Amino acid sequence: MPNLPKEFIERVQVDLGKESDDFFASLKTTPPVSIRFHPHKRTDHIHNTTAIPWCDLGYYLEERISFTSDPAFHAGSFYVQEASSMFLEKVIKQWIPDFKDLNVLDLCAAPGGKSTHLLSLMDGNGLLVSNEVTPARNAILRHNISKWGYSNVVVTQSRPESFTSLGTLFDVMVIDAPCSGEGLFRKDMAAIDEWSVKNTLLCSARQNHILSNVTNSLKKSGILIYSTCTFNPQENDDVIQGLINTGQFESLKIPKVHDGIVETKHGLQFYPHKIKGEGFYIAALIKTDDQGIKPARRKQNKILSLSDQVKQWIGVPDGHRLYQNDNRQYVFPELLAAQFDLLKEHLHIKQAGLCVGETKGKDLIPSPELALSLSLGDNISKVDLNYDEAMEFLRCNNSGMSLPLGWHLATYMNMGLGWLKSVQGRNNNYFPKSWRILNK
Ligand code: SAM
Repeated sequence: MPNLPKEFIERVQVDLGKESDDFFASLKTTPPVSIRFHPHKRTDHIHNTTAIPWCDLGYYLEERISFTSDPAFHAGSFYVQEASSMFLEKVIKQWIPDFKDLNVLDLCAAPGGKSTHLLSLMDGNGLLVSNEVTPARNAILRHNISKWGYSNVVVTQSRPESFTSLGTLFDVMVIDAPCSGEGLFRKDMAAIDEWSVKNTLLCSARQNHILSNVTNSLKKSGILIYSTCTFNPQENDDVIQGLINTGQFESLKIPKVHDGIVETKHGLQFYPHKIKGEGFYIAALIKTDDQGIKPARRKQNKILSLSDQVKQWIGVPDGHRLYQNDNRQYVFPELLAAQFDLLKEHLHIKQAGLCVGETKGKDLIPSPELALSLSLGDNISKVDLNYDEAMEFLRCNNSGMSLPLGWHLATYMNMGLGWLKSVQGRNNNYFPKSWRILNK
């Protein structure tokens, strides 16, 4: 491990006192490996796990395995996520026990840990707006959201400033803010090199800027969950204090439920020498004031009817509306249409609902996202691949197996991976090149 910055060591020594030696020693230990299972996909091939006390589907693994070499990982069977950050679930269960019909924003969403977790907890109810401003990270987010398979989600790529004009749309806001990353020092050496006092100050200014732009799109009595992966109080409790000082928010107490989690003035802090996970901070607030404009009612866009092909591909066509963007056709829950129309006016939408396919001439080519979706229809021809065949499929190689002409869903452990099209003696592989695995 590179040497820790002197100013960081001094600050931690003041903050943790006698415990600081244990803290510094913990940074030299191997980080635990943890995953969170999908609630509806198969996960029974993963053994030797230990439950994470604060997350129902979160588990520690005994050791790091090659996730890329597990086709079930590519089918969305589980998400690899650091354990402390799964504490989001406890906060949600404490303060938002019923997710029905709620509009939820995950503002800083890539690579998708919190968003996939939120989708599991929402389990098809309400709307998640999953936003990531950085284009390359947004692509990774969309891939992870697609693997999770829910259609009640819109992925946007907008700056916090774009949310100011939206009106009070959201009931819940999760802001997992970009931070100085002190909590990742054990896992990510680059975070140590990038750390400086100047950078922590820039981070804290950026966090305040982000919050000042997005909080007026939170409804009165809406819940704001703020988190970082740093120990720096200026990026944690001080930011929360700033929100309270506006007179618009009150902080909410979060039960710490597990020994070793440290209560701070406004939130909870996770330290790697006290719990099995990385450094993390989380706080929750309620919005007490009614500032902000109610979102205006939108004029409904023309609704396209679902073709027989789309009806066959998606399991629950009723209650979905179809829209087209370039050549891609999407279905989106009808119940969420008003929110979608509003978002379209203010934000840069990258993906909404489920992309069912792309039109090419008279044909509709089924989309890679459809293969991973929980809404996939039952009457689709499926080919269950063994391990070696699945790995070949994920490398985008064509298969020589004998199949009837037409489209087939390639599955592994009965979970969709992607599409094969059998044409005149060969099966073309439609797994996207940008998702393919490159290892031998
Ligand atoms: N929530 C994610 C998860 O659980 O997988 C991790 C989010 S990461 C801590 C913070 C994200 O904020 C990064 O993806 C980064 O690109 C994004 N970000 C950076 N600057 C930003 C800004 N000024 N406004 C909004 N998001 C920003």
